[in-house]
Amino acid sequence: MEFAESMELAPLSHKETISSGSPHEALFIVLAYLPLFELLSMSAVCRSLRDAVEKDVLPWLNLIVEKPLNFRLSDEILMKIASKANGRLRTLALMNCAKITDDGLQRVIHQNSLISKLHIPGCTGLTPDGVITAVQKLSDRQHGLESLRINGTGNMKKEHLERIRYYLQTNQKLQRIQRERQPLLYHNYRKFQAYRWEEHGRVIDVEICPKCNEVRVVFDCPREECKRKRGGSMTGCQTCMFCTPRCEECGKCVENEDLEETVCADTLCSDCWIQLSKCNFCNKPCCSRHRHMQITSTGSVGWICSVCHDKSNGFE
Ligand SMILES: [Zn+2]
Ligand SMILES: [Zn+2]
Ligand SMILES: [Zn+2]
Ligand SMILES: [Zn+2]
Ligand SMILES: [Zn+2]
Repeated sequence: MEFAESMELAPLSHKETISSGSPHEALFIVLAYLPLFELLSMSAVCRSLRDAVEKDVLPWLNLIVEKPLNFRLSDEILMKIASKANGRLRTLALMNCAKITDDGLQRVIHQNSLISKLHIPGCTGLTPDGVITAVQKLSDRQHGLESLRINGTGNMKKEHLERIRYYLQTNQKLQRIQRERQPLLYHNYRKFQAYRWEEHGRVIDVEICPKCNEVRVVFDCPREECKRKRGGSMTGCQTCMFCTPRCEECGKCVENEDLEETVCADTLCSDCWIQLSKCNFCNKPCCSRHRHMQITSTGSVGWICSVCHDKSNGFE
């Protein structure tokens, strides 16, 4: 992609920002770790940062595409951005990039055989066979793939996952990482940044849910009694998010009969439900992710939820 063209993806507010003096040296170090959107924004701040982004290969070795650019990323744009790494791409993280096809992914991988982190969750345009081909290609060298996220690939079945695991397990380093695996909690999982996944000691994000037998992300439970019961073996609540409702705030499993009503329709355990403040009208809380649904007005105590607010204003 021509630089001017890639700048079209940068936010407008940054395009006009011109700083006085030269940027702090730390900014140049940070460049290599930024998601694409921030990278393009940074390059709009001043000439020296723009030169660093444009001429240096380093910022392009870890390509992370998240919201809001994910919706616009096509195979062609991906090829152009990936080519900036000159075949040395290390991280390819395409978060929920629905327009990317098997063909687009294959083309990038063909030119970048050094990719060690492949994160393609929610890329619904990819097929299980496309993902398998990619993993096979990237595992076929000494250090291979260190981190793989494929949750949300359509029609991924047990046998597909088995083939993927087969290719991954040829790598000894992977087996070591897998042993250091940390518990994966539902409320943390939602907050994960693309580039922080491996802190959780997992090579691959999905496994077979013991309850529904589907290829899904399987969560651990922080509830003390569930942890005690677990003792090495799977407990009833160690399943995917569809099989066991979990608290949005603390990740604990919630029994169906204990489900409390919330403004945002997310699940909360009774402990978290009691602690959160409630709407003055309907007495329901919001999870912290949906705090924007709480409307406060000057002179009154507490808040009312956007649903009650709209009702009282006659929008419904
Ligand atoms: Zn399940
Ligand atoms: Zn909770
Ligand atoms: Zn539990
Ligand atoms: Zn309300
Ligand atoms: Zn919520």
